[in-house]
Amino acid sequence: MSLRIETILCRAGRMDNYSYLLTDEETGTSAIIDPSETTPIIKRCDELGCKPSYILNTHHHYDHTDANIEIKKYYQAKVVGSEYDAKRIPGLDESVKDGATWFLGKSKAEIIRVDGHTIGHILWYFPEDKALFTGDTLFNLCIGGLFEGTSNDMFASLNKIKNLPDDTLFYPGHEYTIHGIPFALHYMPNNPELQNYIQHTQQKLNRGLPVGPISLGIEKQCNPYLKAQSLREFESLLGQ
Ligand code: FE
Ligand code: ZN
Repeated sequence: MSLRIETILCRAGRMDNYSYLLTDEETGTSAIIDPSETTPIIKRCDELGCKPSYILNTHHHYDHTDANIEIKKYYQAKVVGSEYDAKRIPGLDESVKDGATWFLGKSKAEIIRVDGHTIGHILWYFPEDKALFTGDTLFNLCIGGLFEGTSNDMFASLNKIKNLPDDTLFYPGHEYTIHGIPFALHYMPNNPELQNYIQHTQQKLNRGLPVGPISLGIEKQCNPYLKAQSLREFESLLGQ
């Protein structure tokens, strides 16, 4: 239980990406998850006097990897990403595959492959710290679009997420909560958990803060895509 997590907003007001600065407190080793944009990341790291040793990517899309090369050079950092993305993640040094264990200092991460948004997309899951970095697979109250995988792939991937403990906090790749609210409300107009979620969202966003992290337990009750019990039901939510 020694992972410190800082959220860094990138592409603010355009794509609202979140990069995350992780620090293993015992060893001081740190990493950036999905460096989207160089300036805000270097600014925050400098303020904290932090020099990330690693860049951890969830998938190859440019809004998650665009600053890989610059951050890598600036901090002499190593880029770690999905084996499947070996040829399409800029500057990749080390590839990891589904089920692998990877350590940031003494903090243990498990790699979970989740096809759907892309093929080879991975989640970075730190079980002892109850932290899950979901990239563009799971957002607050919504999910990532199907760019490369099928609905079947995505449904299987979401089931992997649903099987993780309810007290896991998840950290998405974008601030998209506001976009998920209308559909969630349409699907469950009278869910008190969802009402609380919306109130929390408004409070956070009004203060200019990220909505997350939210626990998987709450997300399972409020995200329509996680509530689908069958592929057919899931596909009907996708409008297929
Ligand atoms: Fe993406
Ligand atoms: Zn993205």
